Amino acid sequence: MRPKRTLKRGKRPELMWGFGLSEDEHRQISKAVGPGFHIRNFPDGGIPDGQEMNMNEKPSAAWIPRRVWEDIPEDRRDDYRSLESQRILIQEDAEDGLEMEEVLEQGFLTVVRTPLTRAKVQDAVFRAKEVSSMYSDIYRMSEEIMLERELLSRKTDQLMFLNRVLASASESLDPNVILHNAWDYLNMLLPVRQLHAVFWQHPEGTDSSDVQLFLGNRMSPENENAWVDRLLDTATTMGGGTVTGYEISRVNGTPRPGSDRSPNDGSVHVMPLKAGQDHFGALVLLCEDRVTLGKDQIETFKSAVNHLGLALRNALLFKEVKLRADRDGLTHIYNRRTFDERLVHELKRRQRYGHNLALLMVDLDHFKSINDSYGHQAGDEVLRRVGRILQESLRSTDLAARYGGEEFAVLLPHTSEKDACRLAERIRSSIESEVFMQDGEQFRVTASIGVASVEAGSLDRDGDLVLKADQALYEAKRNGRNMTVISRPEPVVQSCPTQ
Ligand code: GH3
Ligand code: MG
Ligand code: MG
Repeated sequence: MRPKRTLKRGKRPELMWGFGLSEDEHRQISKAVGPGFHIRNFPDGGIPDGQEMNMNEKPSAAWIPRRVWEDIPEDRRDDYRSLESQRILIQEDAEDGLEMEEVLEQGFLTVVRTPLTRAKVQDAVFRAKEVSSMYSDIYRMSEEIMLERELLSRKTDQLMFLNRVLASASESLDPNVILHNAWDYLNMLLPVRQLHAVFWQHPEGTDSSDVQLFLGNRMSPENENAWVDRLLDTATTMGGGTVTGYEISRVNGTPRPGSDRSPNDGSVHVMPLKAGQDHFGALVLLCEDRVTLGKDQIETFKSAVNHLGLALRNALLFKEVKLRADRDGLTHIYNRRTFDERLVHELKRRQRYGHNLALLMVDLDHFKSINDSYGHQAGDEVLRRVGRILQESLRSTDLAARYGGEEFAVLLPHTSEKDACRLAERIRSSIESEVFMQDGEQFRVTASIGVASVEAGSLDRDGDLVLKADQALYEAKRNGRNMTVISRPEPVVQSCPTQ
């Protein structure tokens, strides 16, 4: 004996469908399930099509007699097979029994033979409800799994993003390159139209700040000015203290399409850069106005910015250390080591391309007596000023270095002997015109300059360049100082024409 089960009544009768049920069948089922259910019976010949079924409220089960099923043409049966509700097939007792396999193949939950007794009907409805609730459990679970998957894939994307930002930030020690790469990667998360950075430094004991601006792309002068103002504002408000000086550094490379914009062409986001307690700068981004990020994406973005901040700070420190290592501490022009390296490099390039290369050796005259007469500090000031004169006289491809003591070397790629000689004379006369002051007393210094060059296409041995310039310098000293002497094929050494 089956245990007796009762069908609980909901507040509103549950819906079941009948497809072409006879009056008897309709009545028997209604009676068996009781008032908790309402059966909507579509008359035979008026049973709904797929579209109609989808529009209606979903029933908890649908009853269909075998005679009706068999009358439905094969091409319409799929509409019924894909019905979400469980279908129960009614079979006349007298009919030949269908194989269960066939019943299941047609997508029926079960088959109920007439007569439709209360027990058989209730049993079928219970099963239909059980299966439906199992289906909805499975559906809910698969939805949860999909959601988890979605979250997982979002996390993976974010990890990949962080990984790329980190890897690209540590690839270079050049702040411009780091920023350029960061732009590419930040775009994976946000449509960044512009990316700039500003760094500030407070010299000890002051409330003023030196500022470095990094512009992430080339722009029209008006837009660039607007960005410089915006970045300086950021340095004043975030860094504190008045900006006393700033330096602009621009990212190289081709301008990106659509990136020539002012700070008003989108929304500006300022992300502070910190190392521990030290707040040393900010990344400034221009984004499209209508961008929204999820909370987790904002966190990821912030940690990417932190990594970038550290990488940029390291790059700046590296730049500073390198600057110190490359330069002479007193005059701030390049030191002997940098000169030697650059000379080797330029000689190699000359060997390959065969262009001109010239060298000046500049030595101050009677410098010992300047020290003796005015003191070492005055001597130091002379060296600093001479360094500045050299620096101001040169093109960006030239290199001026303090060769030692009061001797300077100037390397001039792509420069003919004649042009080198003219430049030497300009330098010599600038030094001669400079007036120095010590304890109210004015004094001047002079310099002797030796010029040597290897001309384009010449077969001269390059290594002799320094030696030849030195010999010319020695000759200038010997001939009375305060003059430029040009090295000719030995042993003739001639004075350089003044103009
Ligand atoms: P000459 O015209 O033959 O070149 O005579 P000079 O006196 O310039 O040459 P000398 O080599 O006899 O003296 C170079 C002087 O430069 C000696 C040294 O004290 C001075 N000197 C070298 N380095 C520095 C420096 O860093 N600061 C100062 N104040 N003096 C320096
Ligand atoms: Mg000297
Ligand atoms: Mg000397």
